[in-house]
Amino acid sequence: MPLKKDIKDFGLAALEGELRSLDEPGFRAKQIFAWLYRRGKTTFGEFSDVSRGLRDKLEERYFIGRLEAVERLRSRDGVQKFLFRLGDGPHVETVLIPSGKRRTVCLSTQAGCKFACAFCASGLGGFKRNLTPSEIIGQVLFVKDVLGEEPTNIVFMGMGEPLDNFDNVADSVRIMNAAEGMGIAARRITISTCGIVPGIERLAKLDLQVNLSLSLHAVTDRLRDRLMPVNKKYPLEEIVLACEAYLKSGGRMMTLEYILIRDVNDSRNDAEGLAAIARRLRAKVNLIAYSPVPGLEFAPPEEAAMKEFVRWLEERRVQVTERRSKGADIAAACGQLAGHKKSETREIGGTRKR
Ligand code: SF4
Repeated sequence: MPLKKDIKDFGLAALEGELRSLDEPGFRAKQIFAWLYRRGKTTFGEFSDVSRGLRDKLEERYFIGRLEAVERLRSRDGVQKFLFRLGDGPHVETVLIPSGKRRTVCLSTQAGCKFACAFCASGLGGFKRNLTPSEIIGQVLFVKDVLGEEPTNIVFMGMGEPLDNFDNVADSVRIMNAAEGMGIAARRITISTCGIVPGIERLAKLDLQVNLSLSLHAVTDRLRDRLMPVNKKYPLEEIVLACEAYLKSGGRMMTLEYILIRDVNDSRNDAEGLAAIARRLRAKVNLIAYSPVPGLEFAPPEEAAMKEFVRWLEERRVQVTERRSKGADIAAACGQLAGHKKSETREIGGTRKR
């Protein structure tokens, strides 16, 4: 008997194909989706409107993957962070950010990250592996079924580069999006990238209709090469052109993430460069004050510098949202909790990744 497969790794079309190969009608896939994602069932025996014969076949060939949190932290501002240990050992993190009626879940897509941005805790431990669709979806299901919180918004901004794990991320988006699955509208899903041009181009060709967020953080190649080594492979102008093509292809809207770092990227020239890119992409800017990651060299901006930077952008008619780091008291920055786990320290600090 071949090894059992995780049934949550299959999108709806793929699951229909699996069922047909078992001499079962493809439409049963919708029933299975409802049990897995709407009702959150974790054993095939609970699929009460599925025939006993099919349940037996499923039991023989598949298992229902599930994430168990090994650590849960709640910050003073309501942000919760979960650390999951994957079956083969690596740790990944998920953050739940409440804001009014919104429940935003920030997902990891890789264990570790290979892109080594100079300000980010996720890159510190190197890259372990891609997460499977089931492991990505499992983070949302944990929030939904274990915590009883209904996610309203999904952001792929946790550990890892989503477009470097393209197929699994696209499959997980389709499962979240499917009416028979979680039914989360594409306009409430945002995929973030550090600027992987081929990934942006592929995304433009798919009809996912998700929002795209570019982690910019620098507006010259010279500085971006230093902060984000991926820029040496995909320089700024190439990235912006790919984003323009994404928007022309019918992609919904773009945001630019910009972590403001003291004396690094907080000058008036930086603001002018950022405004020019934002106007080209008709993008909103999320401005995030850097907060320190132990072992990294950077410092947060002065309060006044942050305000001035916002003013410079607004003077250039750029829509900007100032973001304070949420969950700072629970190490909510991407990669920090997993980093602590790895080094067996429990120091509490915080910054956001993107
Ligand atoms: S910012 Fe994103 S791409 Fe860069 S190291 Fe961190 S997780 Fe990787």
